[in-house]
Amino acid sequence: MVDVIQKAVQATRTGEENQEMTHAWVFTGPPGSGRSNAAIAFAQALVCKMDGCGICNECKSTAAGAHPDVEIIRTEGLSIKIDEVRELLTRVSWAPSMGGWRVVVMEDADRLTESAANALLKAIEEPGNRTVWLLCAPTLHDVLPTIRSRCRHLQLVTPSTRAVASVLQTQNGVAPAMADFAARVSQGHIGRARYLATNEDVRNIRNTIMKLPLNLHGISSAFAAAQTLIELATKQATDAAEKRNEKEIEDLSLAYGKGATGRGMASGGSKALKDLEKEQKTRQTRMIRDGLDAALLDIATFYRDVMMVQAGVNESLINKELENEIGVFATKTKPQVTIKKLDAIMQSRINLSFNAAPLLTIEALMCTLAR
Ligand SMILES: [Zn+2]
Repeated sequence: MVDVIQKAVQATRTGEENQEMTHAWVFTGPPGSGRSNAAIAFAQALVCKMDGCGICNECKSTAAGAHPDVEIIRTEGLSIKIDEVRELLTRVSWAPSMGGWRVVVMEDADRLTESAANALLKAIEEPGNRTVWLLCAPTLHDVLPTIRSRCRHLQLVTPSTRAVASVLQTQNGVAPAMADFAARVSQGHIGRARYLATNEDVRNIRNTIMKLPLNLHGISSAFAAAQTLIELATKQATDAAEKRNEKEIEDLSLAYGKGATGRGMASGGSKALKDLEKEQKTRQTRMIRDGLDAALLDIATFYRDVMMVQAGVNESLINKELENEIGVFATKTKPQVTIKKLDAIMQSRINLSFNAAPLLTIEALMCTLAR
């Protein structure tokens, strides 16, 4: 990966841009693989005189989002709309102030609406300009075909547990044992590992979730476990959403004049408010589903460990803390049963992604796991 970027940066210096350097790139990788960090490192390499040393003013201001020639687009909302893209295009139409490149890093290119993507497409196609587009998305399929066909693609892989632990120690000052735990159970997701390592509440929630499979004995415990999972996911999503929602409504009200909502607002205000509330509701629903999905992935690591023990491999357990419990659990069932349970978890994740009713889906899953 680094090699490709180095070649591209060198090409910009020598002028052989057609071969290695293109004006539009897509960075893909699973959540936590560091897509946007890679894109920002690329941006630094383009504006820094030493190919991205990380310590000069150019590099530092790029990382801080303060470089005049580097735009870092982060989306708080659910989608990037055409107005935002048009505004962006006006801003980047100026020649780079330092005479080099103008770089746009778009962290969530998968959230471009179709019309916004089409507006962007025109800019990407424009020959001879000095703007480089670095788009980030989970997979290539999350980017419109018209856009991705004009971009060079860089696929990032999930970092190793050791690499994640080392980042937590050096960048966040996390103690070695905690860094190892967080990296191990987050399986290469740096953001999640950092969140776990630095947040006791989150660790407690994970503990509760990981105890669920151990307490599944019969139907009534299955329903209770489902209830617990739904409540945890809902509470997490609600806590995270509340503050954000309030601020968004306040900002919108101010934008439409008058501090108050409803009648006090200028015309168009109440419609905008309704749209916003609708968007917030959608977002909250999505956050609950994301929370459930993360919980199911955690539970899957339990059965994965059981599977390892049943296969006679006792090292490299993800949940080392539950080694004894997992050992006992493994003697009570057969590998075929464990595989079926893992399948059931993955199927539930798929069903949830297709908008299956969360409570029903989780209840059915817990019943399967309790068998
Ligand atoms: Zn530098």
